[in-house]
Order: sequence, then structure tokens, then C-alpha cells
Amino acid sequence: MQKIANYINGALIEPTSKQYIDNYNPSTGTVYSLCPDSDERDVELAYQAAEAAFEDWSNTPTEKRSRIMVRISELLERDIDKFAMAETIDQGKPLWLSKNGEMPRAISNIRFFGTAIEHFASEAHPMGNHAINYTLRTPIGVVGCISPWNLPLYLFTWKIAPAIAAGNCVVAKPSEVTPYTAYLLSEICMEAGLPAGVLNIVHGLGPKVGSALTVHPKIKAISFTGGTKTGAEIARVAAPMFKKLSLELGGKNPNIIFADCDFDKMLNETVRSSFLNQGEICLCGSRIFVERPIYDKFKAAFVEKVKSELVVGNPLDAKTKTGAIVSKMHFEKVLSYIELAKEEGGTILCGGHAVKPEGECANGWYIAPTIIEGLSYDCRTNQEEIFGPVVTITPFDTDEEALMMANSTEYGLASTIWTENLTRAHKMAAEIKAGIVWINCWLLRDLRTPFGGVKSSGVGREGGLEALRFFTEAKNVCVKL
Ligand code: NDP
Repeated sequence: MQKIANYINGALIEPTSKQYIDNYNPSTGTVYSLCPDSDERDVELAYQAAEAAFEDWSNTPTEKRSRIMVRISELLERDIDKFAMAETIDQGKPLWLSKNGEMPRAISNIRFFGTAIEHFASEAHPMGNHAINYTLRTPIGVVGCISPWNLPLYLFTWKIAPAIAAGNCVVAKPSEVTPYTAYLLSEICMEAGLPAGVLNIVHGLGPKVGSALTVHPKIKAISFTGGTKTGAEIARVAAPMFKKLSLELGGKNPNIIFADCDFDKMLNETVRSSFLNQGEICLCGSRIFVERPIYDKFKAAFVEKVKSELVVGNPLDAKTKTGAIVSKMHFEKVLSYIELAKEEGGTILCGGHAVKPEGECANGWYIAPTIIEGLSYDCRTNQEEIFGPVVTITPFDTDEEALMMANSTEYGLASTIWTENLTRAHKMAAEIKAGIVWINCWLLRDLRTPFGGVKSSGVGREGGLEALRFFTEAKNVCVKL
């Protein structure tokens, strides 16, 4: 059985404990590789390697850092088929999505920050002719990056790329549920000539490796993407140590559909924003609010389209639109929320059950895309993050009511508004409590824009210069002339 290795000090090594965790292929429900069960000893080794590499890396000219990062992105592009296949086997998403969505984005992440650093400048504040202030931006040192299982390589590279580009050295922990593409990336980093110790990848469990990173007194910043509960735990531990924190957490995003929208465009995008990647994207719109005059029309068309188009099954099959749920634990969690929705009085309009494909995928973890109506906006199903192929639909009568329901959860990550009325669109965008608002589109991303949530969806912003600012310390130098 293939053993995944940690990547520490430029080499692939086994965990100190010599213990491994079973790594499952969710599409078949079988173990197909072994993930290192690392612990604080491996984190310490990684830290030492990163610390030793820091002086050289932080003083490496940005042009050279940039060249190495662009080389990594080119090698990733060369091997895109291998990476896409690995991601699909590890995560359960359809192969076409890995190949056309996630891998191109991982490549862009590395290239984007690898080139952005060459254009990153800091400010000067002259005080007439008697003094000048300038801001020096220096890398922080050794930083920690912790990423989740839903978009494994995409979110992993989204963190490590700005950290490394800015001159930091990194100790990173991918989710132990989906470690494979981060492991393959280590091989690419070696081939691209990334100096030893600049990036270290320690695989293993959150409570062991993740928390060892968080409590490490010399790791000065943590960039985390994952659940709100885990984010709160990281903040509790890291805040008294005065670590810099970037937390990208859960969501329960509203999708608000007005009667004057472009119906066909909205319908196509709403199918995608509800169920892409099995609904396991923090930006998916899981609460759909529909203006009453088109509620029945929307309901009929949405249910029909989901039933007829979203084929559930083997992620390797080109016609599959909905692949496997990432793990047995998550599969059971999503099903338990469907039961809860029924207990809360919801009506299942489609889906609502597990799917058992024939053949080798019979023991995989599949759930039919599920649409539920008849729930109050403030019930648990509509307030708690499910993070699977489950959405609710709810009618509304006024803009105020839509806003009140949209803003009623503890989350505030993303939102979508469908209307052809420009004034209403801008007004809603201003009043909605979310870090991201899409108007008449969804998941349209420009990597230069700030990305992040409000309320329990997170603290800080990633993306573009925000990420480079997070991974540097600003120092003001005041010179009397
Ligand atoms: P988790 O919070 O369970 O895990 C995220 C990462 O943190 C994993 O690598 C995990 O390791 C690790 N971890 C777990 N416990 C600790 C700990 N005590 N200290 C440090 N690290 C720890 O999230 P999921 O992996 O389940 O991901 C799904 C969540 O991520 C959803 O809530 C989703 O909304 C959110 N998310 C947010 C995004 C955003 O941009 N805001 C984007 C994508 C997802 P292990 O895997 O071993 O448990």
C-alpha cells in the first residue's frame, strides 16, 4: 500500500512515530493509501528546518523566489492529469471538476503569488520637507498553514503561496482526510529547486499536528481554513501568544432570488451554487430565498433540473455530476441533517437519501442532491452549516424580509443576489452581512480581490495584496531631514 511521506527539510521522510492513518477513497469506501500519523516531534523537526532556511530565503531576491514559484506552477501544469486523478480518488469529486476547476486554480494560486511579489511595494508618507516616513514590510519568519479537505490542493496552495512568496518559511498541515495532492506537491517542490526547509508539510491529525503548530511558541502566524469550532479553538490557544491569525471559517450562505431576475441564467447558476463539489464548498448557497411571485415556477424548474441533470455516481465517470461525500463521518453527518430537517417539519422535494451505485462504487459514500422546503428561516437546518448536497428553499415577500432572513445566521461568508434591478442589487449588497457578494453570478473569482468572512465566518482577509500584507510585518521608519 502506498505510504504518504512528510516533506521536511527538502526530503520525504516517515513520521517519527512510524504510525500511519488509513486514507480512504470515498468513491469506493476502501483504504487505498496510508497517511503519516505525525505528532509534535515532526512539527518540531519541520520548525527547525524552516527556521534554518529562513535567513537565506527571506534574503533571496524576489525575482529568484518568483522564478522558483513559477517553475512549481509549470510542473504542476505538466502533471495536471496525475494531480486531478489523485485529487478525485482522495476527495471524491468528479474528475472533470478536479481537472477543469481545482487543479487550474491551484496552478494559478502559485503563479499569481509568485509573480505578485515582484510588484509588491510599500508606502511612503512625506511630512513636507522636514521628514519622511516609509513602511518596511518584512517576512514574519516561520508561519503555520492549516487547510481543510473540501478543495484540498486549491486551499493548500492559496495559503502556502503568499507565505513563501513574501519570504516566510512554512510548516503546513493539509487535512488528514485528503493528504495526497499535498504529498505530490512536495515532489514537485523538490524538482523545482525550492530550497530545503522553505516549505515543510507535516501530515496527520488536527488535534496532534494542527494543535502542535498552534501552540508552538516560535511559529508566529497561523493561516487556517476550516470549521468555525476548530477556528475558535485555534484562536483560544494562539491569541494569548499574540500570534497573527487569519481564520477562514464556515458559512451558511444565502442565495436571494428576485422575481425580476434573468430566470434561465439564475436557474443554471443556482444548480451549480447549490451542488457543485457535492455542496462541499464553503461558498455554496445553501439557503435559497425566492420572491413569492416566482416561487412555484422556481421550485418546479429547480427540482426538475436537479433530478434530471445531477447524475450521482463514480467520480471517474465523465457523466457524473455529483461524486462521493469525502468521508463516512461526513456522510453520516449530512444524512443526520436531512433527518433533522424532516423532524423540523421540512418537506423533501428531491433526494433526501443515500445512493448506492452498482459495481465497485457500491460501498462508497453518496448522497442524492437534496432540496427541502417548508422550514422556518430560524430552525437548526437553516442556521447550522451542513456542508453537503442539501439546500432549503423559502419564499419571501419584501426586500426587508429577505435581508432579515439572509442575515439571521451566525455566519457571514458569501451571498448571491439575482435581480435585474441595479438599485436594489447595490442596496442589498451594502446591507447584507457577508464578506463576499455575488450579483447575477456565483464563484466568479479574481485573485486580486479580498476574500473572507464576517461574524463566525472568520477574521482577516486572504487574496491579492491582503494575503501578502498578512504574511509580512509592517515597520514604520521616520527620518528627520
Ligand atoms: P476542520 O475545522 O475540521 O479542519 C480543518 C483543518 O484543521 C484540518 O487540517 C484539521 O485536521 C485541522 N484541525 C482540526 N482540529 C485542529 C486543532 N485543534 N488545531 C489545529 N488544527 C486542527 O474543517 P474541515 O476539514 O471539516 O473542513 C470543512 C470546514 O471548512 C467547513 O466548516 C467549511 O465551511 C470550512 N471552509 C471554509 C472556507 C473559507 O474560505 N471560509 C473554505 C473551505 C472550507 P484534520 O483533518 O486532521 O481534522
